[in-house]
Amino acid sequence: MEITFYGTRGSTPIARENSTIYGGNTTCVRIHSTCLPKGHWLVIDTGSGIVPLSWDFTKEKAKAVSILFSHYHHDHTQGFALSAFPYAQEIAVDLYGPYEHGFGPRDIFLTLMRPPFFPVHFGEIGSHINCHNIEFPNSTILLVHPIGGLKVLTRESFERLLEKGKQLPFQGTQKFDVSECMVMRMHRSNHPEQTISYRFEERPTGKVFVFVTDHENQDGIPQRFFQHLKGADLLVMDCQFTRARYDAVTCGWGHATPDYVVHVAQKVGAKSLGITHHDPPSDDDFINNNILIPARRHASSVSAAPLSIFACRDYMKIELS
Ligand SMILES: [Zn+2]
Ligand SMILES: [Zn+2]
Repeated sequence: MEITFYGTRGSTPIARENSTIYGGNTTCVRIHSTCLPKGHWLVIDTGSGIVPLSWDFTKEKAKAVSILFSHYHHDHTQGFALSAFPYAQEIAVDLYGPYEHGFGPRDIFLTLMRPPFFPVHFGEIGSHINCHNIEFPNSTILLVHPIGGLKVLTRESFERLLEKGKQLPFQGTQKFDVSECMVMRMHRSNHPEQTISYRFEERPTGKVFVFVTDHENQDGIPQRFFQHLKGADLLVMDCQFTRARYDAVTCGWGHATPDYVVHVAQKVGAKSLGITHHDPPSDDDFINNNILIPARRHASSVSAAPLSIFACRDYMKIELS
């Protein structure tokens, strides 16, 4: 499994002199896996990073993209309308996202992509786009297989099928073994809207990647959240604010601090921790000196167990090996 970050900024895109290392695109991440069908891309969120991602998609002449939304705040949706995906009728675009307050991915883009907010109406260009509401993220499983493609199951039926012999039905009469699939599980984050954290389990290699954006510090780690995060080879977490700013101003805004994300990563036995959703006012030096170094210092002061900690940056590629 390989991860490419196309956007690692929170709240709003920025471009300025002292932010060239980490970059200024808002959230967008690509997951590469041999479990995906050839030419099928898997992406989390459509912050402004989706625009350059879609240029790479077009260059590679890929054929299908599945986009998983964490939630629909502007910094996670604002790039879609200006990416290549709404206008490329020859490709298949599938949008998966939480459903709350009567809004799923289709309702969101019918609202955002229409005059007077945008010159093109989503309803007029969306025939190659399929939208999927995820109403109960904690009890829904997504599976992807290199031949079978992507499938949605309830957690209950997934577990019942596993008991019967690990053969999972895909299109028509096709059945594949779960050991050939990537299994994607979901858990609700601690954020003002219904927000989903995704866990990717690549069964053929045993590698696990968990992405927790837009998640605020909370007391303890609830048992189901612990299971969701447990044993990640790479855990990427929102770490927008310093502890001092959080305590003084931003408590309740839905974002986390270095001491908290290190605490979580150590408790769940993550091998590597990436911090993301950088605050727009935080330039490269600030991220290094006030987020990354305090996180590493906190980790070594609490535990001698090895935990690699880094700050995610736009266009960074990480191979889980
Ligand atoms: Zn955000
Ligand atoms: Zn948010």
